[in-house]
Amino acid sequence: MREGLLFIVCGPSGVGKTTLCGHLLDAHPTLKLSVSYTTRPPRGSERDGIAYHFVTMADFNAMSESNTFAESAEVHGNQYGTSVEVIQAAWAGGHDVLFDIDYQGAMQLKTRFGERAVSTLIMPPSMSELESRLRGRNTDGEAVVQRRMAAARHELEQFPQFEYLIVNDDLESAKSALDAIYEASRFRPVVQSSRVRSLLSS
Ligand code: ADP
Ligand code: 5GP
Repeated sequence: MREGLLFIVCGPSGVGKTTLCGHLLDAHPTLKLSVSYTTRPPRGSERDGIAYHFVTMADFNAMSESNTFAESAEVHGNQYGTSVEVIQAAWAGGHDVLFDIDYQGAMQLKTRFGERAVSTLIMPPSMSELESRLRGRNTDGEAVVQRRMAAARHELEQFPQFEYLIVNDDLESAKSALDAIYEASRFRPVVQSSRVRSLLSS
């Protein structure tokens, strides 16, 4: 099976990950979004199987015990996890996999998949701009906004662990930067290795 890239986009809630990942998916048919499992209840118009697979805590624990997850973490009081099968199915279909996950999950994927996992942290231009984007999204109550702002600083402090940082100030510039990182990552030797091996054996 061709093994592709794991292209990981992290950053605090409201920083613009969904917007940037949506652009990347539109621009690159080679990429497929990993749909995570979560115990968080659906927000607004979210439907099961599109943004997330919504599961109960009991289901999540059972999946965890049967090693369903390539990574999993508690984020903002809810459980989130990425299924190994989702990654394998995307690779089998010739795709790279795009992840919108938190830094704990990113580090687990880096430990497990090494150079095949590429991690980018999206940063806000300022904490006040982050808060206004979070509020502008209009999906969360006051207590949730406050909890996410407190978590944001901690997540941003993890910046040295990432391979790439993008400040999402001007949206078009941030889109171009993420495009450039993805394009370059596809030329990593680890991703090209099966092609090189068949060249050398010919
Ligand atoms: P996340 O997925 O990281 O929680 P979203 O993609 O949902 O963030 O973006 C949060 C809000 O910020 C949305 O209303 C989005 O349109 C807006 N946004 C994203 N990027 C920018 C930007 N560069 N400038 C201004 N607003 C932005
Ligand atoms: P939200 O509830 O706003 O959709 O996501 C909250 C946080 O959970 C975001 O930082 C998002 O990136 C992260 N997240 C979503 N899915 C996963 C996952 O499968 N694993 C991990 N570790 N984090 C996830």
